Amino acid sequence: MRIDLHSHTTLCNHAEGSVDDFVEKAIENGIDIFAFSDHAPMDFDPTYRMSFEEMALYKELVMDARQKYMNKIEILFGYEVDYLPGHMDERVLKADVDFLIGSVHFINKWGFDNPEFIGRYEHEDIDVIWQKYFDLIEAMAKTKLFDIAGHIDLIKVFIFMPKKDILEMAMPALEAIKEADMVLELNVAGYRKPCEEPYPSPQLLQAAFDLGIPITFGSDAHNPEQVGLYRQEAEELARSIGYTQCAYFTNRQRTMVTF
Ligand SMILES: [Zn+2]
Ligand SMILES: [Zn+2]
Repeated sequence: MRIDLHSHTTLCNHAEGSVDDFVEKAIENGIDIFAFSDHAPMDFDPTYRMSFEEMALYKELVMDARQKYMNKIEILFGYEVDYLPGHMDERVLKADVDFLIGSVHFINKWGFDNPEFIGRYEHEDIDVIWQKYFDLIEAMAKTKLFDIAGHIDLIKVFIFMPKKDILEMAMPALEAIKEADMVLELNVAGYRKPCEEPYPSPQLLQAAFDLGIPITFGSDAHNPEQVGLYRQEAEELARSIGYTQCAYFTNRQRTMVTF
């Protein structure tokens, strides 16, 4: 089975292509289960996400695609939710979805993965921000609000690397993911970014495997061309570590399948 649980729509204001274009590309790539998990609305950083008012439209677009393509591919419905204390909203957290991805895109409200704000790295202690980032991943897992931990080492995106040992810094976060019975996303967007490797790194993926954390696959596609890209690399990496199964969710219930 081929699964891709992470993709976006133009509702987030930083993606391109129609829902149909994404789905058709997924079918072309032999994907069996494809999910939309667009950036959930939030009363912070509204520029890069849909509004609360657009949630109904988002659901309608995905449900229409589910119907239209039901004989060719299974379409799932989710959100990528920012873990940002004080800004998570019940309308999202209690939404009727197949799954929620929990992601950290902000450290003290700094959008560290946004090229627009890259200048701030020069003013930060890199070791400190890496630790803060993994502390946030750990806190996100401990809320037990989410099914999937999104791109858990996104902080490496622009290759401002720490002097401290990454595995040591990330271990409490991985343990919290295990404790929360969450699934880890093997997200290939990193291949398209300066860091040129998936999230998480092979080292952290190995640690997740050793802890018995299940994985799923995510293209994090922001345009149809990115659907299915680096699929083979991701599968090969997962297999080389020992993974043979991946997860998907329907109505927030996990199913494991062989990939
Ligand atoms: Zn995005
Ligand atoms: Zn993300």
